[in-house]
Amino acid sequence: MAETTVLGIPSVRTPRAPARTGLNYHIRTFGCQMNEHDSERISGLLAADGMVATSSPGDADVIVLNTCTIRENADNKLYGYLGTLRALKTGNPELKILVGGCSAQKDGDLVMERAPWVDVVFGTHNVHRVVDLIDHADEWGPITEIWEETSAAEDFPSYLPTQRQTAHSAWVTIAIGCDNSCTFCIVPAVRGKEISRRVGDVVGEVRALANEGVTEVTLLGQNVNSYGRDLELNGRRPVFADLLRQVGAVEGIRRVRYTSPHPKDFREDVATAMADTPTVCEQLHLPLQSGSDRVLAAMHRGYNAERFLHRLAMARDIVPGLSVSTDIIVGFPGETEEDFAATLAVVAEARFDQAFTFQFSPRPGTAAAEMDGRLSKEVVQERFDRLVELQTSISLERNQAMVGSVHEVLVEGPSKKDPAMTTARTRGNKPVHAAGQFAPGTYLDFEITGASPHHLRGKVAS
Ligand code: SF4
Repeated sequence: MAETTVLGIPSVRTPRAPARTGLNYHIRTFGCQMNEHDSERISGLLAADGMVATSSPGDADVIVLNTCTIRENADNKLYGYLGTLRALKTGNPELKILVGGCSAQKDGDLVMERAPWVDVVFGTHNVHRVVDLIDHADEWGPITEIWEETSAAEDFPSYLPTQRQTAHSAWVTIAIGCDNSCTFCIVPAVRGKEISRRVGDVVGEVRALANEGVTEVTLLGQNVNSYGRDLELNGRRPVFADLLRQVGAVEGIRRVRYTSPHPKDFREDVATAMADTPTVCEQLHLPLQSGSDRVLAAMHRGYNAERFLHRLAMARDIVPGLSVSTDIIVGFPGETEEDFAATLAVVAEARFDQAFTFQFSPRPGTAAAEMDGRLSKEVVQERFDRLVELQTSISLERNQAMVGSVHEVLVEGPSKKDPAMTTARTRGNKPVHAAGQFAPGTYLDFEITGASPHHLRGKVAS
């Protein structure tokens, strides 16, 4: 069959009219924002094939599980959920079940072995093939298609139709994969080497989004600071700071966020671009992982506690009002009480607005999974509780300090817990709940009237 191109994506199929008009699809997403964004693209592709989204797996003709393998319980969740889908498949043999994402990439054959009622397993770089793969499964039966290492920028699936969860906010991928080798992390194995997307493609997508009414974009990459190292533009390598300025200048865009920078690569030029570009929000997610130099070295993080704190202080100096979140792993192999005390000390000094805290979970295929010195569950839990207690008190203090001040918020919609309330978000990415209904996507000034560790309360400023 002749090779053709659909929406810039090489395909071996001839483009055709939508073939599944009237059928329903259901997507369940596990894991990070990168997966959320991939699910939006899968949704866009299925909708372009005529299908309609349903929130009920029982009503679906196609079910897609977009998986995560960062933690052990993510795999457990996947196989648990696949177990529940078995009955649906027995009742409706025409149902197509697809498994994509990182678990699929890592364990393609295993997924088919453990859940033979699955029709399609596809890898992290095969999202654009999802409709072709369903067609294949229709004609020929179950199929596994896993991506193999490539480093060509041409292979970046840049132009895919996307069905976004909200009309006003969008994710924009700027790079996929990662060239680092953190010993606890499976991402380089399942997402491959870093491939940056061309500046023009990123800015072009942001312009197109702005034309559709999007006002907030979040740039996504595993390590945004190394963006562009594999590209050349006018004889030089584009850098993330320049990209940030260009995206921030797109007409119609009011908020730019990004995630995640790596502390070892986070430099003044990015902080300065943040401060110089009014649309770039005063928000930074800087993953600490541990406050112990010994553990950081064992993790291959490429910085020590002093350097981390120095970079954080630099960012806060340059970007006034910066809100900072972080990730921390408790119970890395060999972590001593002294190491953990060093983490608590850095957390106390850094005064993060928010921390995402995790208990170490060995991922097969990572160096840390082979390390000696695993800690007992009880020790890890006890340290974890102490860390959460400290961070919760800091988060509360930082939020309380905002009471009485006025902040621009972007309305997300009715609160999930209480539909009589509205949830909105500050530029620092803090959720604010307020009584009443406000249209999603509108910008308002809220006076902050109350604080708890994980959210604020507010009202329209008079
Ligand atoms: S920087 Fe480290 S933790 Fe982040 S994706 Fe790369 S290897 Fe994983």
